[in-house]
Amino acid sequence: MNIIFMGPPGAGKGTQAQTIVDEFQIPHISTGDAFRLAIKEGTPLGVEAQKYMDQGLLVPDEITIGIVRDRLQLADCQKGFLLDGFPRTISQAEALDGIVESMGKQITHVINLNVDRGLLLARLTGRRVCKSCGATYHVMFNPPAAENVCDKCSGPLIQRSDDTEEKVGTRLDEYTNKTAPLLNYYEAKGTLRQVNGEQDIDVVGKQICSILRGQA
Ligand code: ADP
Ligand code: AMP
Repeated sequence: MNIIFMGPPGAGKGTQAQTIVDEFQIPHISTGDAFRLAIKEGTPLGVEAQKYMDQGLLVPDEITIGIVRDRLQLADCQKGFLLDGFPRTISQAEALDGIVESMGKQITHVINLNVDRGLLLARLTGRRVCKSCGATYHVMFNPPAAENVCDKCSGPLIQRSDDTEEKVGTRLDEYTNKTAPLLNYYEAKGTLRQVNGEQDIDVVGKQICSILRGQA
């Protein structure tokens, strides 16, 4: 299974990725996570990516495509992979087609999580992530058992610096202008499946699993 999760920031891609990785034992490849790690480690990639992320803008294609190309070469991707947050532009999608073809594979499922823009602002500004293990929570919609403590590893929960109201607006505009056109791209290939991302987290997860198992 070679899967792409699509949907605007805050649609629930990272949340659902946790379920899919547990269920199907495939690696979760998030370009956003890769950039945040590079920023934390202070690498040249991190310094470059931060200039764009701080403004809520997409990181340039040539940088982003290189990261995914390198990651997909690793042995664990042979059994399948889940891409989250990539591709986000038509150029990235075209490059991905070439990379996957050179691996002798194809994208098997593109799952789009639909969530209304009005709800995304509340989702993103209330998001909290574990500093240690990266697990995702929401102060109201998916709170941890103890305030600001990760249920899984007891690490501290933090707010992402781009989850402010001002940056969320720019990020959603980037999505509308550059990423939403990809839905037509994958619709034309016949791989696109739509899931209502406004349902409960468990319901969304079950629907995605049914699609991946060929039961829906
Ligand atoms: P993405 O990876 O698409 O940006 P996340 O998975 O990080 O989105 O989810 C964004 C926020 O919305 C998080 O705070 C998460 O806990 C919350 N969330 C995710 N899915 C749902 C859902 N189905 N219902 C309510 N809140 C959700
Ligand atoms: P995410 O964690 O998916 O919300 O991504 C956080 C930020 O990382 C985005 O706002 C972009 O600045 C950058 N980013 C992540 N994935 C990509 C991508 N595929 N193309 C360009 N920029 C990206």
